[in-house]
Amino acid sequence: MQLLRRGDHSPAVGEIRSTLKRFGLLGQYPISVADHFDEDVERAVRGFQQQRGLIADGIVGPATYRAVREAGWTLGDRMLALMISAPMSGDDVVTLQERLLELGFDPGRPGGVFDDRTEAALRKFQREYGLVPDGLCGPATLRSLRQLGRKVTGGRPHLLREQELLRESGPRLRGKRIVVDPGHGGPDRGVVVGAVAESDLMWDLGRRLVGRMAATGMDAMLSRQENTCPAEVERAEFANNANADLVLSLHTDASHSMHAQGLATYHFGNGSGSTSTVGEALAGFIQRELLIRTALFDCRSQARTWELLRLTRMPTVRIEVGYLTHLGDRQRLLDPTFRDVVAEGIVVGVKRLYLLGQDDQPTGTFTFSDVLARELERGEAQAI
Ligand SMILES: [Zn+2]
Repeated sequence: MQLLRRGDHSPAVGEIRSTLKRFGLLGQYPISVADHFDEDVERAVRGFQQQRGLIADGIVGPATYRAVREAGWTLGDRMLALMISAPMSGDDVVTLQERLLELGFDPGRPGGVFDDRTEAALRKFQREYGLVPDGLCGPATLRSLRQLGRKVTGGRPHLLREQELLRESGPRLRGKRIVVDPGHGGPDRGVVVGAVAESDLMWDLGRRLVGRMAATGMDAMLSRQENTCPAEVERAEFANNANADLVLSLHTDASHSMHAQGLATYHFGNGSGSTSTVGEALAGFIQRELLIRTALFDCRSQARTWELLRLTRMPTVRIEVGYLTHLGDRQRLLDPTFRDVVAEGIVVGVKRLYLLGQDDQPTGTFTFSDVLARELERGEAQAI
């Protein structure tokens, strides 16, 4: 699609204006400016992007446009059902998923996509409440969903569920299934600076990471081959089908400014309260371990709604290991020893997640050998 920005006029701008108005981000406006992308719209778009965990640049590109369209739906506006080829998505699906979770059914992460898991949870709900178990969310189902009291009160059930799973899975790394996702691949080389390509560097880092994870007894797998580039949707499907415990996606960043540099980690969060708390915790552990080990600049942990983050059913963290466009970051990334340090820091970050923060080793001092030694300790070995 064409990018929409300040100065543009079109019916698409009109659609964006009315959604922003409905969210209280844009006030009343005269009909004469109804399809103008003016300063007020730009400000409102930034506000909307901030709320939704998108990059707040005030420009409507594909991700923001999709989010605006999805935000336009409230539960009851349309019939919801599983569409295999083009899954339905929107805020109405988020509401449905959150309602099912409140009632004790598990549609997975309330990411706003009506997938097979949402359908299964809906059918189960329909069966238990004497409705026709057709997996369609129509008027009768809606009525029941609205009438029923909450089984769970307070808190956010879907967040509690992720935490519950984490606690149940115990402190050991052995047997945990991790999908390591090196960004890009094959013809898509990602950021390229001179002879250096993001896809090659992340492939190498991914292999180092998988090697170390395997040494601790983890069941680590790569989401792609060296010469393939699955779409983000396919990578998410791969992790979902593998029933992974965690997904770690590896990228490097780029900027037009040669001064932009540093490390950032991203987890799922839509800015309106649905955040993967386990993802957030993991992103934080990895961010801190890597900062102290690598002395990269701190670009912080942040919530985003990127496809891989929202379509995966398990905590997923995307790590942007420095800017390939920054001389210092690039030189570090080109050093294999540095990539080893990054791989070990990530393993330690994952271990800290499973220890639920109940360890006293200061950040940066927990080594990979410590992790290996701990895995062999009798106490933890029996704590499966
Ligand atoms: Zn990338």
